[in-house]
Amino acid sequence: MLLEGDITISSSEAIVNAANSSLMGGGGVDGAIHRAGGPAILRECKQIVEKQGKLPAGKAVITTGGNLKAKYVIHTVGPVWHGGDKNEAKLLTSSYRESLKLAEDKHIGSISFPSISTGAFGYPAYKAAKVALKTVVLFLKDEASSVNKVVFVLYDYNTYDAYQVALSEII
Ligand code: ADP
Repeated sequence: MLLEGDITISSSEAIVNAANSSLMGGGGVDGAIHRAGGPAILRECKQIVEKQGKLPAGKAVITTGGNLKAKYVIHTVGPVWHGGDKNEAKLLTSSYRESLKLAEDKHIGSISFPSISTGAFGYPAYKAAKVALKTVVLFLKDEASSVNKVVFVLYDYNTYDAYQVALSEII
């Protein structure tokens, strides 16, 4: 399902954060999630980084949702766009897959994604939408057992439109 809106008010059980490797918050959706979720999320992120170091692109970790309606926040680091021949699509696929696998581990039913990598990280929205939708559709078909609802919460009309076009080409 595609929605235009703000992911911080999503009522999914888990929301996904397009984080950066330091997990220290930042701009874009990352800043919005930490502002709305309060300091507990950042505290947990700091503990994770102390334990396992910075999070590489394509990986994901999970924290509680703090003050958010969502019970969990899954933080994943998408790839920075360097023109398309630096493994960007593979890393973006991995970000979605690792997030979905963490949701399965926690027996989560519903999950909301933002458009990972298409803001500050510069990944073209339509190209990212194709990767995102294909990865989620395949996961739901072949691997999901608890996850039964995936929502893309897209912040601006251009991104929403890119996902709509990409979705219409898949189904
Ligand atoms: P990245 O660094 O992975 O590119 P950004 O946060 O810069 O992440 O952007 C990713 C996408 O998230 C962009 O399309 C941006 O417009 C969008 N975004 C920003 N704030 C929110 C929000 N509150 N809810 C959903 N999406 C958001």
